[in-house]
Amino acid sequence: MVDPFGRTVTYLRLSVTDRCDLRCTYCMPERMTFLPKEDLLSFEELDEIATAFITRGVTKLRITGGEPLVRKDIFQLINSLSRHLKSGALDEMTLTTNATQLARHAQALWDAGIRRINVSIDSLNPETFARVTRGGDLSKVLSGIRAAQAVGLKIKLNCVALKHENASEVSDMMRWAHHRGIDMTLIEAMPMGDSGEDRFDQYVALAQIRADLEKQLSLSPSPHKTGGPAHYYDVAQTGGRLGFITPMSHKFCASCNRVRLTCTGKLFMCLGQDDESDLRAVIRGERDVTLNEAIDAAIGRKPEAHDFKIDAPGQAPSVSRHMSVTGG
Ligand code: SAM
Ligand code: SF4
Repeated sequence: MVDPFGRTVTYLRLSVTDRCDLRCTYCMPERMTFLPKEDLLSFEELDEIATAFITRGVTKLRITGGEPLVRKDIFQLINSLSRHLKSGALDEMTLTTNATQLARHAQALWDAGIRRINVSIDSLNPETFARVTRGGDLSKVLSGIRAAQAVGLKIKLNCVALKHENASEVSDMMRWAHHRGIDMTLIEAMPMGDSGEDRFDQYVALAQIRADLEKQLSLSPSPHKTGGPAHYYDVAQTGGRLGFITPMSHKFCASCNRVRLTCTGKLFMCLGQDDESDLRAVIRGERDVTLNEAIDAAIGRKPEAHDFKIDAPGQAPSVSRHMSVTGG
């Protein structure tokens, strides 16, 4: 699958639910309206669409959401999709999670062939964590991380940089992670959906964070690449790696290799644009095209770049849907 800008699409992010047990202040409002359950794709439908992508060249699949581990019986889907790992069609299946339920699912993830997961955590201070997640319990997340490491899962920690909440904590979090053999990646807050907070007050450019870190640490550009948008730096003092994902301050769209399927079967070709293709309608026989034709047509419309902006207080989000809908 090659898009009009010559980029080969090899990576599918599959959002299995828009629901979540946390309410991170940069992601969604406290009183979030979730999609009606009857709008969700069944596991068979999610599998059918993911399999079509894998047959057409996707080699990496990420299960995400919302919080993927809150969807009931999610291992029915994960275990079924793992056949593509066994056949060699998929190089990798991964998961992004807030880790609140990870302790009881870590072994099942490993057994399904998952070897690496991303855990999102924005503070190691229980009070800050509870404030940023609007009520989350840090101890559950930490025991999830311990359980995942105990079964052998490799973890990358994702942290959204927030001007007033964690900007000054980044160095301590990184040391904590590196000490445990965990790489860490910082992400700039993006203007996606109303979160009940002004992202102008939250957003901090990662160049600023890096400059602050460089006052006390030696960061050197790392040759490490994951095929994703992060730029990595080796940290001399810890021996670990720190990634920077800068959708706001430096676009990385020229190397974009991914598309995203929502839990209702909408395919988004760009995180930061509204164009989508309703693949649920296709597999339910409501459109006069085959699934492969619909996928090809959608890839043929993949936009060149996103247009995110956070440059004034009180701005409306650049796209109205939340990251939890599109699949982070
Ligand atoms: N619930 C899971 C989690 O938090 O890891 C998976 C879904 S979450 C939407 C995926 C990632 O998106 C998380 O790392 C989260 O921090 C990030 N995210 C959510 N909203 C964001 C926003 N507006 N800007 C930047 N990152 C965001
Ligand atoms: Fe939930 Fe993840 Fe959004 Fe936080 S970032 S509210 S954990 S979906």
